[in-house]
Amino acid sequence: METDDIEAMDTVDDTQPTTPPLMHITLKTGDDGEPVLLSYTPLHSPFCQQISMQEYKEQATSYTQQSVKELKASQEYKRHVERCHSCGVVWYDGHVTQGCKECGGYAMTRECPICRGVCGKRWRRTVDMSHSMADAHWEGECGHKEAAAKLKQLLHIHSITDAMEDLQT
Ligand SMILES: [Zn+2]
Ligand SMILES: [Zn+2]
Repeated sequence: METDDIEAMDTVDDTQPTTPPLMHITLKTGDDGEPVLLSYTPLHSPFCQQISMQEYKEQATSYTQQSVKELKASQEYKRHVERCHSCGVVWYDGHVTQGCKECGGYAMTRECPICRGVCGKRWRRTVDMSHSMADAHWEGECGHKEAAAKLKQLLHIHSITDAMEDLQT
């Protein structure tokens, strides 16, 4: 009987972002032509062998999600992120530098910029956009229907700054 030994390293698809455990597999071709597993030896540390790669990934993912959630909810994280990259004040603490473009005159929230506060709604700073554009960006909705409709019309003709001025008259 002829025996073909085939040795394969790392049979897991290597396009995966995480490195799969290395293993040493020995196969032979059986009498019926089908491959037969002769030996299987994981090459990674004994610690890693205690759980499967799937279990490891699940544990790592849930651990990461939980810690990211806790981190993002922490005051330290918010104070670190919610700050102005241009002048360095901490928006989270309500600080603003007058004349700083990225601060834009407000900390983390501001009055509605469309009707200039008539609708009473607060808009929230989009921190990522403010940072990347070095210019204050806000998200929210205007509850003042007439002002919003008029602004929409005016936007066809003017820049947003002109439209705001027209709204005042
Ligand atoms: Zn600033
Ligand atoms: Zn409004």
